[in-house]
Amino acid sequence: MNIKVQTAMVLNLDKCIGCHTCSIPCKNVWTNREGAEYMWFNNVECKPGIGYPRKWENQEIHRGGWTLDGGSLRLAAGGRMKKSLNIFHNPDLPTIDEYYEPWDYEYGRLIDSPRRTHQPSLRPRSRITGEPMTLQWGPNWEDDLAGLSETGPGDPNFKDLDYRTYLQFRNVFMFWLPRLCEHCLNPACVASCPSGALYKRDEDGIVLVDQERCRGWRYCVSGCPYKKVYFNWKTGRAEKCIFCYPRLEAGLTTLCAHSCVGRIRYVGVLLYDADRIAEAARAPQDKDVYPAHLDILLDPNDPEIARAARFQGIAPNVMAAARRSPVHALIREWRLALPLHPEFRTLPMVWYVPPLSPITRQMDDPSEAGSLIDRMRIPVTYLANLLTAGDEAPVRLALKRLSAVRRFMRTRRVEKRDDPQVLDAVGLDTTAVERLYRLLAIAPLAERFVLPTRPAGKDDLFIQQGACGFGDAL
Ligand code: SF4
Ligand code: SF4
Repeated sequence: MNIKVQTAMVLNLDKCIGCHTCSIPCKNVWTNREGAEYMWFNNVECKPGIGYPRKWENQEIHRGGWTLDGGSLRLAAGGRMKKSLNIFHNPDLPTIDEYYEPWDYEYGRLIDSPRRTHQPSLRPRSRITGEPMTLQWGPNWEDDLAGLSETGPGDPNFKDLDYRTYLQFRNVFMFWLPRLCEHCLNPACVASCPSGALYKRDEDGIVLVDQERCRGWRYCVSGCPYKKVYFNWKTGRAEKCIFCYPRLEAGLTTLCAHSCVGRIRYVGVLLYDADRIAEAARAPQDKDVYPAHLDILLDPNDPEIARAARFQGIAPNVMAAARRSPVHALIREWRLALPLHPEFRTLPMVWYVPPLSPITRQMDDPSEAGSLIDRMRIPVTYLANLLTAGDEAPVRLALKRLSAVRRFMRTRRVEKRDDPQVLDAVGLDTTAVERLYRLLAIAPLAERFVLPTRPAGKDDLFIQQGACGFGDAL
C-alpha cells in the first residue's frame, strides 16, 4: 500500500445559484493577462447544454481521456509514438471558436460620448483583432438555458433519454455545473505531454504545468477530457487551474471556494492507495470505475491505515485534517458526492453532490421515497450519465439521502418531533443526519475547508510560502 494525500473538492449542486462569483476572482487573479483572455480555469455551465468549449463532453469529437483496449488503458487520442509522428499537427485540438473569441467593450464611450437623445451603447470589440464583432459563443453562452433548442441535442448526457421531450417547455429542467480542473489521480494531460512538462505534486496531488519545460505542443489540451488545460498564445505555454496552491500552502482554501456565494464548495484532504490507481482506472466496464475509484480511497480513522500512513511519513497534522475532512465524509462515508464522467477513466478528484429538484406532487408517505426520485424534474438517467457513467443506483442513493435529511429536519423543525422512519430506509441515523445537516446547511468556513496547516509554535509559514509544499514545511 502506497498512501498518498490528495487535496480534493466537493461541490454541492443542490445549492449552486449560478451567480458565477466563483469564476470572477479566479479570472482576476490567475488569467487576467495577455494570452489568457479566453481562459476560465473555473467556469459555470448551465445544464442541459454543451458547455465550454463546445461539446467538451463528447469524446468522439475531442478524443480526450483514456479508453480500454483489450484490458489495458490507452489514451483515446493515441500513445506517444502516434503523437511523435503527428507532432506538428494535432487534429483533436479545440479551435478558438469552440471556446469563444474573447471580447471587450469600449467602456470609454460611456464617458466620452457627446450629449445625445439616447444613452450611448457599448459595442463589443474582439480582443484578437480589435475589430467590432458579432458575438457568437462564450463560456456562459447557454446561461439559463439560452439557445437550448439549438444546442440541447448536442448534450451527450441525454443518452437513453428522448431529448425532445425534455426540451419541451413544460418538461424542461435546469441546473448549474461549476467546473475546474479535476486534479485527477490518473491525469490524461500528464500522460499526453511529449515534454513531460505536466506533473502531479507528491504532497497534495495538485496537477501543474512546468512553464520551463513546456514546449507548447498542446497535447495536454486535447488529452484532457474535461478541457481544462489551455494554451497561452503570448507565452507559447500551457496553463491550467493550479488549485490556488500558493494559498493552500498557507492553509487558505481556493479562491473559487472562498468566494462561493452559495457556500456549495468543500475542500479537504483524502488519502488513497497510489498502487491501485491503474487497477481502478482499468475497471472492465465504465460503470465499474466509480466503485473502483471509491475503493482506493482510504479511511483515515482506520488504525491500520493511520499506522501505515505514519510509517510512510505522512505528517500528524495532515492525518488530523484527513480525519476531519468534509470531502471524505461526503464522498466516502455518506456517498453523497460523485465524480464527473468517471468513464473518462482519469479518476477525477473534484466531486459533485447531485441536485434535488422540484417534484410534481408532495410526498406524504415515507415509503414513497423511491418513486419520489423518479418524480423529480431532473431525470435520474441524466444525472447518472453525468456522474456515474449511467449507473443510476449511486445517484438514487445520494438523492434519497439528501431528501431524507430534508424531510427529517423539516419534521423536527415544524412538527417538533423526530421521524427516524425516513432515515432507516436510506441507512442513516439521527447522529449522521445532524452531522450532515450541519455540513450541508450551516457549516462555517472552518468546517467546509479543512486543510493541514503548520503546527503552532514553528516558524512563520508565510516566510516559506511559495517555496515549499506541505511535505517540506513539516
Ligand atoms: S482535469 Fe485536470 S488533471 Fe485531469 S486530465 Fe484534465 S487538466 Fe489533467
Ligand atoms: S459562486 Fe458558488 S453558487 Fe455562485 S456559481 Fe459559483 S459555485 Fe455556484
